[in-house]
Amino acid sequence: MPTLAHKIRLHPTPDQIQYFKQAAGTTRMVWNWALDAWNQQGVAGQHPNAYALKKQFNAIKYQQFPWLHTIHRDAHSQPFADLGEAWRRFLTGQNDRPVFKKKAKRPRVSISPMTSSRSGRRPCGSPKSVGSVRITEPLRFSGKILGARVTRRADQGFIAIQVAVSQSDYHRPRTENGQKGADVGVKTFVTLSTGEKIDGPKALRKALRRIKMRQRAITRKLEAAKGQIGLPQNAPIPQGTHLPVSHNRAKATLRVGNSHLRVANLRQDFLHKTSSRLCRENQAIGIETLSVEGMLMNHHLAQAIADQGFGQFFTILQYQADRYGTQLITADRWFPSSKPCSTSGCGYLNKDLTLKDREWTCPSCEITHDRDINAARNLHRLATATALPVATRSATDATGFGDPAHDRESDFDGKITPVRDEARPAG
Ligand SMILES: [Zn+2]
Repeated sequence: MPTLAHKIRLHPTPDQIQYFKQAAGTTRMVWNWALDAWNQQGVAGQHPNAYALKKQFNAIKYQQFPWLHTIHRDAHSQPFADLGEAWRRFLTGQNDRPVFKKKAKRPRVSISPMTSSRSGRRPCGSPKSVGSVRITEPLRFSGKILGARVTRRADQGFIAIQVAVSQSDYHRPRTENGQKGADVGVKTFVTLSTGEKIDGPKALRKALRRIKMRQRAITRKLEAAKGQIGLPQNAPIPQGTHLPVSHNRAKATLRVGNSHLRVANLRQDFLHKTSSRLCRENQAIGIETLSVEGMLMNHHLAQAIADQGFGQFFTILQYQADRYGTQLITADRWFPSSKPCSTSGCGYLNKDLTLKDREWTCPSCEITHDRDINAARNLHRLATATALPVATRSATDATGFGDPAHDRESDFDGKITPVRDEARPAG
């Protein structure tokens, strides 16, 4: 059964906040205990596993850490499962090696499936010691609740609830069965093969400016704190020095945290809306997988990319494509989306195209191309050729890009990876 998660803002009481802080601290302590034990057993040539470690911990926990009695069991049992999963992902190359957790900026704590009310703006059930916590909206999905996690960002608390939903609730009907190419870029966030350009929200820019402004307030408070202990303003802080934290500095830090949260929310909202629209309207989308890491090395592009969250976009797009049954045809970064002329039947290859050229005129068919739209059209052609049930030797051949009559470059063969084999009919 597919799972969906719904993240809901919490309005805990001060006592509940205190409890969640302690529970998150417990989770961190237990994770670090388990990771340390895991590492030691690994060095000793044993084969550590999460289940055995948990048994070991349970045997000693109330003697060694008597205060665990006041924290719900979920907070000290989940870290073992998480650690096991983290190692599994590390061993299969999906993650970095698990590391010790520091006092977190974004603490989280697990809660097992809840038994109380799931609908309406009524309290959500949680461990006995916490009681009911007010939530800001009803749970969106119906089905079996698998688990939940409470997290904090800036001064806001959230609960993410995982629900097992039926196939019919998981899949969403498409409104159209179009086929489009989508060029993701720095200048314009997404350019479609229809010529439409979708830009990131303007509010995002404004919010980013506000972060810079608020960041300066912290710097001023930091300089004042340095002054208090007799350090010059621009001197580096010697290691191990604890600067006095004034109330105003704490407030300034919280303001920056809230601004970051707002930016994250604006971006998420935009990415979700854009990707769900694309998938709702199309049965096939041709899109290029950018090498985001490679582009981040280029400092001019770095800020713009970080602003736009390309990595997040592809993740969300995949998820939406799965729900709408939309076929994503991803061309890898060697696929020549920009250089070939997109006029049908032309296929001229503009070898001299550079990143700076926003527009160019094809000498063969004499049509002037907008760089992004041209790329989107080439991706559209790829999508059409791949998505159509035509017996072709490979998708690249079907696009005509591999035609030996045209000037061929060594990087001319794009590898095509269809994400889903068949588009689901709308309905
Ligand atoms: Zn042309």
